[in-house]
Amino acid sequence: MRRLPPRAPRRPLVRRPRAAVPAALAAALLLAAAPVAAQDAPQRPAARPADSVPADPPRIAQLKREALADVEGRAKFTQEMVDMIFSFGELGYQEVETTRYIADVLRRNGFTVRTGVAGMPSAWVATWGSGSPVIAIGSDVDGIPQASQKPGVAYRAPLVEGAPGHGEGHNSGQAVNITAALAVKKLMERDRLPGTLVIWPGTAEELVGGKAYLIRDGLFKDVDIALFSHVSSNLSTAWGSQAANALVSLEFAFRGKAAHAAGQPWSGRSALDAVELMNVGWNYRREHLRYQQRSHYVIGDGGDQPNVVPSTASVWYYLRETDHPRVMGLWAVADSIARGAAMMTGTELQPVRVLGSAWPQHFNKPIAEAMQANIERVGMPEWSEQDQQLARAVQELAGGRPRGLGRFLGALPQPVLESQKTGGGSDDIGDVSWVVPTVTLRYPANIPGTPGHSWVDAIAMATPIAHKGSTAGAKVMAATIVDILTKPELVTEAKKYFTEVQTKDTKYTPFIRPQDRPATDLNVDIMARYRDRMRQFYYDPSKYGTYLEQLGITYPTVKPAP
Ligand SMILES: [Zn+2]
Repeated sequence: MRRLPPRAPRRPLVRRPRAAVPAALAAALLLAAAPVAAQDAPQRPAARPADSVPADPPRIAQLKREALADVEGRAKFTQEMVDMIFSFGELGYQEVETTRYIADVLRRNGFTVRTGVAGMPSAWVATWGSGSPVIAIGSDVDGIPQASQKPGVAYRAPLVEGAPGHGEGHNSGQAVNITAALAVKKLMERDRLPGTLVIWPGTAEELVGGKAYLIRDGLFKDVDIALFSHVSSNLSTAWGSQAANALVSLEFAFRGKAAHAAGQPWSGRSALDAVELMNVGWNYRREHLRYQQRSHYVIGDGGDQPNVVPSTASVWYYLRETDHPRVMGLWAVADSIARGAAMMTGTELQPVRVLGSAWPQHFNKPIAEAMQANIERVGMPEWSEQDQQLARAVQELAGGRPRGLGRFLGALPQPVLESQKTGGGSDDIGDVSWVVPTVTLRYPANIPGTPGHSWVDAIAMATPIAHKGSTAGAKVMAATIVDILTKPELVTEAKKYFTEVQTKDTKYTPFIRPQDRPATDLNVDIMARYRDRMRQFYYDPSKYGTYLEQLGITYPTVKPAP
């Protein structure tokens, strides 16, 4: 996500000698650093002087101190969760081991867990407590194709060649949330604080597949506030309209006629031709689309072998724009191009499948301000020289400047204005943010300067960087849950912002149509291909302190053994 400079002036605390850099190289460096800039807010000291943070009443301040100490005491638990989910490395809709493991942890800790929710076998919802406020705490859980990678090793070293892995860092969010929830639950039990904690997963987030269905299934119906956590390289939050695009993910499938491709090609009609012409058509049309749009595709079915005219073929598009109406506009263009491709090739366009979708994100101001105050209380983790060494090696590997891990917090950024949006990625937390007051916490469990959605992004995700970053995130999450439980006026203000400002003129209409179902067939074949070989690398915390220890990896390993 792209961030705007905050109102507070920049105070650079790290000074580096500046060498003259040729313009082309400078541009390349800037490009390489782009995803980082997206995650890194401008810099400020980690711990603000205590008097600049709005003071909590003594009882609430005491509860927060206890919650933070409890989270710190659970650092081992957090590390085990981070490492365990990393070792499963499961793709979207196939988070079977992850679900089994998390459901077991939650049940052992007194939560009621319902699995298979909203038509997704790997989705679940866990509930504990009673009465209001009802706080729904979520985070994504799925991995990235071909991102299998040994943690702590700063060069390409897959655990299983070709297999998926946590090449974004979604293995850490549930650890953040559950650690925080358990710390707060203990205080709620002791002090008989009313409230309900609902823990839920962003199933198949990499496919933007799950959250619209959780909403349709009623998961957020009685929820007062939704808190979301997402891996990042800094500790931050935001409110108002965000830079992330809305998105719809569509499959266009064509049906033709098989024939001998050499003996009798005139009897055949190639569905693959239709796919290729659709892509050519889209790529010509692209010139006449707004620059905020992002669109990309992969051919899911391109036929079987060259001597058989392909009777089936399909192409899978992600279409992104800044808002719901504009995405619907792109969808209409794609529909017409697909129909044209079918006409040109004498093939038949099948009913279009919606495989995923996301609304743009809009986060709640009062909750984000409360969370920011907690971020400033907690501050960035203390990184060791080994952590910095790994970070610098990974940054060099990614073609960027070896600047190490962030040490400073940013101020709470201002919302992104429509005129400032330049397009970018998406997350279906956007949908949730339009049905209930929502805020996302970004926590520093990964290295700044990585390309995103890549094996490079997996390197830090089962190392002390991910462990410390997740503990820091859990502290902020716990303190924010305490705020929501103990300050009814905060919930009132949050709802007021949601109704009177955010949704005053914009109402949520899901992209998914009544006939759409979660695309749970996705990734079945990939997991079937790799699951057995991945299983031997599952983390066993009964035998090993950490996953690094189980794999026998010296931390950090920055150069291949000679
Ligand atoms: Zn993500």
